[in-house]
Amino acid sequence: MTRVVEQFQLARRQLAGGVSSSTRVNRALGHAMLFERAEGCRVWDLDGREYIDLCTSHGATLLGHGDPRVRQAVEAVLARGWACSYENDSHTELAQLLCRTVPSCERVRFTSSGTEATLHVIRLARAFTGRAKLLKFEGNFHGYHDQVMFSIGTPADQLGDEDSPAVFPGSAGITRDIERQLVIVPYNRPDLLERAFDQHGGELAAAICEPIWYNAGCVLPTPEFMVALVRLTREHGTLLIFDEVLSAFRMAPGGAQEYLGVTPDLCTLGKAVGGGLPLSVFGGRADVMQRLMPEGDCQHSGTYNGHPLVVAAGLAAVAAYREPGFYEHISRVGGRLFAGLNEIFTRHGVPGRVQWLGARFGVYFGVDQVRTYRDVVKHRRDLMLEFVAAAIAAGVYFHDYGGAACHHGFCSAMTLTDVDEALSRLDGAVASMKGD
Ligand code: PLP
Repeated sequence: MTRVVEQFQLARRQLAGGVSSSTRVNRALGHAMLFERAEGCRVWDLDGREYIDLCTSHGATLLGHGDPRVRQAVEAVLARGWACSYENDSHTELAQLLCRTVPSCERVRFTSSGTEATLHVIRLARAFTGRAKLLKFEGNFHGYHDQVMFSIGTPADQLGDEDSPAVFPGSAGITRDIERQLVIVPYNRPDLLERAFDQHGGELAAAICEPIWYNAGCVLPTPEFMVALVRLTREHGTLLIFDEVLSAFRMAPGGAQEYLGVTPDLCTLGKAVGGGLPLSVFGGRADVMQRLMPEGDCQHSGTYNGHPLVVAAGLAAVAAYREPGFYEHISRVGGRLFAGLNEIFTRHGVPGRVQWLGARFGVYFGVDQVRTYRDVVKHRRDLMLEFVAAAIAAGVYFHDYGGAACHHGFCSAMTLTDVDEALSRLDGAVASMKGD
């Protein structure tokens, strides 16, 4: 037995399921991977095996592991005693930097996880509009709190009619009746969106969406869908929230909102914003953000909000994303990696294909263009699991967390030489797949 498996079994005795986060079990392996060291685009497991990391901490390490700029910033705060739960001048500095970088941000607040950021931004939208209902897209993921844990990972046979999708709970234990506040609409269906606003427009506090739907791998909104979303939210006095926990900084410093040229009323940022440390953000229009206490009447507090270590890391990370050439490099690396991977699938007769934008991507098996959750569930999970297991055996780390489709990514520390090495390992992995 490897040390990884041995330690995972040991962990299970006291740590529920052997993990701190349920999705950390890699479904292709049946256990969590335990890494003891990481540097740049590489990780080393407890047995000393090295992997090129194409999970990148589920999106948190866009700069790569152990980035020296982030490390230096954190070490400087450690040396000063990390005065926790107090404000200091770096909070102002990071707020200014984010408001300069992310188009919708006139004011921001700091939180620790993406889940917290969406929880608070939704409460704020309800406080501001005085309305209760939330429009959410089928399959979009917004974290693990009860308000949004619906219609994610719904099994194909429980989706219901596309015209009125089932509001499927993503976990046991969610209080009944919350779903009554939700209006679920399929992504990329402007016609059904129009109908939902006709029926519920006056009651909708907010429409929340993944502006680039990375949680389904990588699905772009069609222009007609985005135009309809912006028009309908404006017409009905509904706040538009872009959940950019995963998309922020991925393809442009201002995230998907900069890339799409659409400025929402509110947004959330997470993962990459903290350079691998637990920082998240929600922000947006000043008049809406002013409803937060102490200026307004909407509560948002937390002992660890804006912890000085993560704020310092965030400052270093966002400054790095704004450096000249950052996204040209991302584009070069992505272009070579994904053209190479698609070519490998074709050459070996395996029906896989990549959809990508910026530094994240989805790999789909047995389906053509993926646009809605109904397309996602047609993707061949069996081949995905086979591919992930083969890639890991060949020294490339992909994570399968059990969703209908998974998202993967690379970091800016990856060079074109690393790409070629990853492709040569993946060539062997795909060659070993049965692929039928
Ligand atoms: N929103 C989106 C779009 C996400 O991708 C995620 C996590 O993957 C979350 C929210 C939740 O973030 P966290 O896992 O930091 O709580």
